[in-house]
Amino acid sequence: MTSPLALLGGNPEVDVPGPHFAWPPVDDTTRAAVAAQLDAAVSIPGRSGVVAALEDGLQAYFGVRHAVTVSSGTAALHALYSAAGIGAGDEVIVPAWTFHATASPLFHLRAVPVPCDIGPDGNIDPARVEEMITPQTRALMVTHMWGRPADMADLAAIAKAHGLALLEDGSHAHGASIHGQKVGTFGLGSAFSLNGPKPLSGGEGGFVLTDDDDTYYRVLTFAHYNKRCKSEIPEGHPLARYAVTGSGLKLRIHPLAAALAFNQLGRLDSYLLGRAEIARYLTEHLARVPGLGIVPVPDGVVTSWYGLTLTYRPEELGGLTLDRFHQALIAEGATGFDRPGSTRPLHELLLYQYPELLFPGHPYRHRRFPAGCFPVSEHAYRHTIKLPVWHREQDLALAEQYVRAVVKVSERHKELL
Ligand SMILES: *Cc1c(COP(=O)(O)O)cnc(C)c1O
Repeated sequence: MTSPLALLGGNPEVDVPGPHFAWPPVDDTTRAAVAAQLDAAVSIPGRSGVVAALEDGLQAYFGVRHAVTVSSGTAALHALYSAAGIGAGDEVIVPAWTFHATASPLFHLRAVPVPCDIGPDGNIDPARVEEMITPQTRALMVTHMWGRPADMADLAAIAKAHGLALLEDGSHAHGASIHGQKVGTFGLGSAFSLNGPKPLSGGEGGFVLTDDDDTYYRVLTFAHYNKRCKSEIPEGHPLARYAVTGSGLKLRIHPLAAALAFNQLGRLDSYLLGRAEIARYLTEHLARVPGLGIVPVPDGVVTSWYGLTLTYRPEELGGLTLDRFHQALIAEGATGFDRPGSTRPLHELLLYQYPELLFPGHPYRHRRFPAGCFPVSEHAYRHTIKLPVWHREQDLALAEQYVRAVVKVSERHKELL
């Protein structure tokens, strides 16, 4: 039998002081790259310097023709929707459970996000998409939640059959792939965040990927007025005449963020390999613990392990609440355990329930979502507990302590009831 629970006065199982996870990893090469950028340029209006280096690097890494950096993942999504031609009254099918920024920029285009429930893997359920399609549907947006690629074969087939633009939010999933094809390369275009904890981080920033020239010019027009539009949109293209103003927004990445992201990009694959090792250990041991379930990753699918999500099963622990289970883990020193907070089902957010205060007259205003209308998303949100996945060999010892903490709380759950 395990030692007494820390929540009830025993000794914590994890003896390493927290916080246990910091991202992005910063070393002397990172510091030198950012310091050098400080001397080279802190404002880059054209596609040059570190911005060009980062965009070239992203194009090579993802094997796409165009990468356009912007100030955030939210800005990348906004630009991508606009570039895909989404406008007033158009409907876009989005996962009912995703970070809201996957869909919220649609309000600014006076377009209508249409949530669709997720499947057991946590991603938009291909079996539910077709029932959401109406004559107004223009696009299907897919998030690869927590780094696990969605079922792109089925989703691409549905998009194709119904003439919808297939778009991806890869903000959790830089470098994840399906049979060697990287997420972000399956449809017309994709948007990624470079925000703090994301697998590829510049602290702040984002980018759009596309192979389509016209979409690329539209992204530039949306996010990069003047210099980049003048030099990158060919003369004679209908958008070239708008170069000075673009669409009126300026959403450039900061060069220091670009320098950080460029430094990290060279190491992304080694991070992902390291995470895969630790994720293998964690999933193997945690899947066996009563009270927790893990959806296995299919063969040929590589995840970025942005988060290792576990499904809490209170019925296996005498009805112990997840709140109490989580509290007991924190008391054991396993402070990296986290529950999704603001990443909650879209229809539970005020913006999606009552957008009219912020967007008067918006065509979305008639939508109402009773509780229980997206049962898989609602259940997943309330039963998910997740861990960051470390990437260094020396972190395995910490992962072992975390497993011991979980085993202890699970074994002694009756004492918590
Ligand atoms: C982080 C995130 C965004 C927004 O990116 P920012 O860079 O924070 O604006 C969008 N979608 C998903 C899935 C995200 O995780």
